Amino acid sequence: MEVFVINKHGETLMPCSSRKARLLLESGKAKVIRRSPFTIQLIHGSTGYKQDLTLGVDTGHSEVGLSVVSKTKEVFSAVAKMRNDISSKMDTRRMYRRQKRNKLRYRKPRFLNRSASTKKGRLAPSVQWKVDAHINLINQLKSLLPITKVVLETGTFDMAKIKNPNITNEQYQKGVQYGFENVKAYVLSRDGYQCQSKKKGCSDRLQVHHIKYRSNGGSNAPNNLITLCEKHHKALHAGKFELDIKSHKSLKSATTMNIIRSRLLRYFPEAIETFGYITKANRYQHNIEKTHTNDAFVIAGGSKQKRAEERTIHFKRKNNRSLQKNRNGYAPAIRRQRYPIQPKDLVTFEGRQYQAVGMQNKGAYLKMTDGLRTIVKSVKKIEIVFHQKGVIYV
Ligand SMILES: [Zn+2]
Ligand SMILES: [Zn+2]
Repeated sequence: MEVFVINKHGETLMPCSSRKARLLLESGKAKVIRRSPFTIQLIHGSTGYKQDLTLGVDTGHSEVGLSVVSKTKEVFSAVAKMRNDISSKMDTRRMYRRQKRNKLRYRKPRFLNRSASTKKGRLAPSVQWKVDAHINLINQLKSLLPITKVVLETGTFDMAKIKNPNITNEQYQKGVQYGFENVKAYVLSRDGYQCQSKKKGCSDRLQVHHIKYRSNGGSNAPNNLITLCEKHHKALHAGKFELDIKSHKSLKSATTMNIIRSRLLRYFPEAIETFGYITKANRYQHNIEKTHTNDAFVIAGGSKQKRAEERTIHFKRKNNRSLQKNRNGYAPAIRRQRYPIQPKDLVTFEGRQYQAVGMQNKGAYLKMTDGLRTIVKSVKKIEIVFHQKGVIYV
């Protein structure tokens, strides 16, 4: 696993191997400034060596691919697992608050006290969290590596280019003509990735069919294209049935990903935007399998470079602010105290390292796991090694 390196002036350098980092630390030439992700700072010496690095981001709902690539190698590769528990956590909080209000009759009801949060442009908490998570990941990597260029894949197709096919995309225009790939990606998305034959028993593979055949002068415009599964596409060409198409579909309204996309581009105006259909074509060209990290690698301009070991990034809830569960005969109260050991902290017990799962018995016992088995032990015998904060690199 690579170790991030900062020079004595606090500037980012190329990462080094953990072996090299150990040598630097043992000889007193560097000090540890962060445990997760492991980062060292050179104590003296030159300003250090740098290469131009490009960060590629495969944005997403539940998983985000990240890759940092130089001309010669990939220096960082990770998949970040997004939290998907925000809205259920909000529901739980709402429930507790309602319960609390019911029991505290002396408290006057408060109305319309959400002026700040109902302002225009407010996002749902789950979407806001995802936007922030993308921004934090990119900013954190920029603070760890000398990244000079950021490329974001923000969606599968380029809407602007469908409306006006003549716009050119500087970075990717040379070489292969991707125009039709873009339209295909758009049509698949428009049709909800479903065969439009209105027949049963579809096969898995989806294809895009020309309603008016190319040979009859049919165009590549989206309104002449429709999504069919391979089986029904073949059957249609064999004349086994006729398509029944009347309603013209327009694109679905802004989805979560569209919102994330526009917010990211507003936040990183210098970033280059790219699209899934381009990534896909480039992946085919270099014979690279589809995964989030491979997509990110291709997005960052990777082709034949030596790959980095893949990491996983988890997000940890920073604070449990839910109200204390109401017990019979007790006044409802807000939880004021935090346990000294929080979930995902690293601890040792009898010389072995474990990850905390959660406190039990009002903080007398700790449930912990070493990845294989889960045990519960008295906190008296446990030592805290490391407090994990918001973003966890594994
Ligand atoms: Zn079908
Ligand atoms: Zn066809």
